[in-house]
Amino acid sequence: MNVLASRQDLDLFHYEMECIIRMFLPGEQVRFFDQQPEEEPIHIRVTGEGGRCAVTLETGDFSQCLEEDCGGSDKDRERAVCRLLFRLLQSRTGKTFAWGTLTGVRPVKLVRRLREQGMGEAEIEERLGRDYLTSPEKVRLCLNTDQNQRDILDSAAPGDCSLYVSIPFCPSRCSYCSFVSHSVEKSRALVPEYLEKLYEELAVTGELLREKGLRLRTVYVGGGTPTVLDAGQLRGLMDVLRARFPMDACQEFTVEAGRPDTIDREKLEILANAGVERISINTQSMSNAVLRAVGRNHTKDQFLRAFMTAKEFDFTVNVDLIAGLEGETADSFCTSLDQVVALGPQNITVHTLTLKRASTLYGEKNLQLPGDIPVGDMVDYAHRTLAAAGYAPYYLYRQKNTVDSLENVGYAKGDSRCAYNIFIMDETHTILSAGGGGVSKIVRGEQDIRRIFNYKYPYEYVQRFPQVLARKQALRELL
Ligand code: SF4
Repeated sequence: MNVLASRQDLDLFHYEMECIIRMFLPGEQVRFFDQQPEEEPIHIRVTGEGGRCAVTLETGDFSQCLEEDCGGSDKDRERAVCRLLFRLLQSRTGKTFAWGTLTGVRPVKLVRRLREQGMGEAEIEERLGRDYLTSPEKVRLCLNTDQNQRDILDSAAPGDCSLYVSIPFCPSRCSYCSFVSHSVEKSRALVPEYLEKLYEELAVTGELLREKGLRLRTVYVGGGTPTVLDAGQLRGLMDVLRARFPMDACQEFTVEAGRPDTIDREKLEILANAGVERISINTQSMSNAVLRAVGRNHTKDQFLRAFMTAKEFDFTVNVDLIAGLEGETADSFCTSLDQVVALGPQNITVHTLTLKRASTLYGEKNLQLPGDIPVGDMVDYAHRTLAAAGYAPYYLYRQKNTVDSLENVGYAKGDSRCAYNIFIMDETHTILSAGGGGVSKIVRGEQDIRRIFNYKYPYEYVQRFPQVLARKQALRELL
């Protein structure tokens, strides 16, 4: 798809235009020109100046031009061009997307900003519908989510921080995975050396925390699948965390247990004894055929056994599900959700499948998202069913290349919300990260967030560990 627009328009918002084109036409190559190329056909033209803009779409047998008044600012013009492009592609493809032209990762933050400017709910709904063509249902979801996380955000104080610890190993690789999750069979030999370096990084991070007088609010051990570590390794990690950080004063300690096939009673006991209060056991689907198709080496029964064992301890349990997995139908997704709801975990997180470049699925499917899976219906069903069962949405984020451009939502019963998830999504306070693929975020103000990246792959992390420590030094200067 070739797009012709003025240099200024391209400089300012070619990214947004590309996101919208990809939403309607996934897999389409998008090229931008600021002058008519001699031999290239142009499919989309953006024209107009000042307070008026027009977008024309011409593809084969389809030709249409839409225009509208658009105010004077660059932002107004950007929104108008995106709306016009959205409507043209809607008309051309017959598709529509409930979030409209809103493409950011954190729509709840936008809603909160509008609330803080004094807007009421009806006005916010009207504003997002008008500016971004966002459906009233999605705006209400953001409003509810904002409401349900407000007290936790309000409790944040200067000097608060959280800690993220990455264990980027998994027993096998899910076809949709883009994380740096080395299959343990292939890289088991690396685990002891990885942990040795990680412990060193945690020691330096703990010193930093003390030196800067930061208050540790939450700790989240994720990955990957932390419970892929054997019992001795897991105990070692817990011991290091307790030795290096003020875990007794920390308000929330979460470990992602992730894959049910890595969980047993001994490991759960180690976590419980170390003060872990929250775990995630992620079945993603309750259909064995779907689990096989996406490369997860566990069954529904293994998930049920892991869940029941976890219930013997006093954990707050989250269960993840994904809408849109290969082989999943609307019926099988709804059945999965109903079965998980019947188990009564305190938290259920409903993700929508995202195709990421690093995933096997992306390579095989070349970003052709399955068009015939009614993912919107699945997500709507989840929202209705969870609301009826007493779960409220408390954090929400969106990602690029998600099926139907939908969202990921964490739901919680009662007061079982995971504060770490809220803090990381809201970018409320500094998150110190340790381990391969970890990203430390230093929040110095709403508009001043610095990121320091660790090496992604475990072997890189191990081999370049001196640089990891050097980056921690850079972090010290930013805190
Ligand atoms: S369990 Fe998660 S991190 Fe591990 S391979 Fe699957 S999607 Fe990736």
